[in-house]
Amino acid sequence: MTTYIQESDFTMVEEGFVARDLMEEIINEFSQTDDRDAFFVADLGDVVKKHIRFLKALPRVKPFYAVKCNSSRGIVQILAEMGAGFDCASKAEIELVQGIGVNADHIIYANPCKQISQIKYAARNGVQMMTFDNEVELSKVSRNHPNAKMVLRVATDDSKSSGRLSVKFGAPLKACRRLLEMAKNLNVEVIGVSFHVGSGCRDPQAYAQSIADARLVFEMATEFGHSMTLLDIGGGFPGTEDAKIRFEEIADVINPALDRYFPQGVDIIAEPGRYYVASAFSLAVNIIAKKEVSSESTDSDDEEGCPNKSIMYYVNDGVYGSFNCIFFDHAHPKPILHKKPSPEQPLYKSSLWGPTCDGLDRIAEQLDLPELYVGDWLLFNNMGAYTVAASSTFNGFQQTRINYAMPRGAWAAVQLLQRGFQQPEEKETVCTPMTCGWEISDSLCFAPTFASTGII
Ligand SMILES: *Cc1c(COP(=O)(O)O)cnc(C)c1O
Repeated sequence: MTTYIQESDFTMVEEGFVARDLMEEIINEFSQTDDRDAFFVADLGDVVKKHIRFLKALPRVKPFYAVKCNSSRGIVQILAEMGAGFDCASKAEIELVQGIGVNADHIIYANPCKQISQIKYAARNGVQMMTFDNEVELSKVSRNHPNAKMVLRVATDDSKSSGRLSVKFGAPLKACRRLLEMAKNLNVEVIGVSFHVGSGCRDPQAYAQSIADARLVFEMATEFGHSMTLLDIGGGFPGTEDAKIRFEEIADVINPALDRYFPQGVDIIAEPGRYYVASAFSLAVNIIAKKEVSSESTDSDDEEGCPNKSIMYYVNDGVYGSFNCIFFDHAHPKPILHKKPSPEQPLYKSSLWGPTCDGLDRIAEQLDLPELYVGDWLLFNNMGAYTVAASSTFNGFQQTRINYAMPRGAWAAVQLLQRGFQQPEEKETVCTPMTCGWEISDSLCFAPTFASTGII
């Protein structure tokens, strides 16, 4: 496989590196100047670890990363390097991943409602796997993409997820029969079923239920003469350690459900977004302005007043930028102080505001913080999912720069993964203890199993 990553775009860091170290370095560099723009540090080693963890926890499932979650170049490239597939929802996302050399058969166009010109684009560029959940889509596809391999998206119970998707997408079970019949009549090939339990899913049973539902749809489709070979279990997996439920707990429900309802003969894919990127990104913002507000309780004022004052801080990224996750992803980002405060420092009720002129641009309030100053830094962890993806340049504030860090050991692991995927017969050699110090030998042993499914 080609090496897409140019080392110059990255800081290669030695083992033992934590994102915080690179952050510290950048902050140090900034301290020589007045230029203290907000910035991200993206730890690509974290993405590599997530991938290995995915292969271990869900050995039968091939991940197709959902590009919409974070389409930054470093993320897409590292995942391509490791042989992941991609869930694209638009022409531009297809262009992005094909632009770095990803094969069309590693792409699923997972948007059930597509513009005709974009369906044609997919057809011209060899992207065949596409989802649908309605009749109109089927007739559009039959006219514009005769070679499409359609995947029927079914609705789920997403009531226990933070980002509900089945309000917009997914055919109810009782509509599936009609859709499958219509596909047959239109000569449109249906190869599988997909679902999404909702983003930020807290109920692993939702996956089991949808896998069972998918089985029913497989049976129905087979009756209509469709040759069903693909199950797509979507996304919804947690991306941070503080999530209500661990990824492995979800996997412990998914695996037996797959073995019960799909014991063999199908390719199984997933479309994880948040899972891969949430914890990889840390954000540093700088305080650009500050305003003290005296307490409203003017009556009971004791003139010392200090504990009564509250402070508004204005920082150089906000809800029109990376913090759009507050509105679009129900996030509640909490700052970490760059300078450790001493315990004697009094705390003040504080609020954090973005740099734009909109009153809506508020990041957090009711924080208890020691007094901070213009030029101080605040850090935010777990800022990789649904942040950079939807950030705008509203009011002339530029998108926040991403600094990628690739730990040397993780890079070695990526190369081993590539060999593992490409040459399954080398199982024994690949599984010998690693020199890179990464505990990846177990998961690499999954590679041959994987390759034998023919997906890779
Ligand atoms: C958004 C989306 C995903 C990714 O969801 P996560 O919850 O971030 O894993 C996957 N598939 C589809 C179709 C989506 O719309």
